Amino acid sequence: MQPLSNRKKVLEQKPMNFMERIYFPAIIKGLSITLRHFFKKIPTIKYPEQQRPYSKNFRGQHSLKRDEEGRERCTACGLCALSCPAEAITMIAAERTKEEEHLYREEKYAAVYEINMLRCIFCGLCEEACPKEAIYLDGPHVTADYLRKDFIYGKDKLVEPKFDITKLNS
Ligand code: SF4
Ligand code: SF4
Repeated sequence: MQPLSNRKKVLEQKPMNFMERIYFPAIIKGLSITLRHFFKKIPTIKYPEQQRPYSKNFRGQHSLKRDEEGRERCTACGLCALSCPAEAITMIAAERTKEEEHLYREEKYAAVYEINMLRCIFCGLCEEACPKEAIYLDGPHVTADYLRKDFIYGKDKLVEPKFDITKLNS
């Protein structure tokens, strides 16, 4: 056969035999691969019916804690906001009045405390920085939403609900 190029080695295409022409071995090989996958352990789960346990180190939504008398622990010192690398925390401090002593633990408290969950990277530095043990990332996942403004969580979502200490001990 006359070569079409100036390459030294000319590759010749072997004519296909009967089995190759009907693609039989290739079909059997493909089916055997598919069958093997039927008996393999499935790596995925049927979420949300099935759920995997969280890691011990999981960091979820922040919660602002109360003391044993149900008063908010946060004193609006601002250390969490200062330590936040994503600048996700904003707050406005206010002075506690005599009538509010049962609500806030110290003279100063956060009248407004907001975390922008779209900025937060869940690094946990705010938790580490807090000298009052007032903020922990021990909540659930931050859920999906439609509007950006709905990802700015205020005290209504962050402060933990009041609990009855007497019920806890019983
Ligand atoms: S977890 Fe990290 S990024 Fe999120 S608010 Fe706290 S310090 Fe900022
Ligand atoms: S959560 Fe802690 S660090 Fe942040 S303002 Fe309140 S007391 Fe200060």
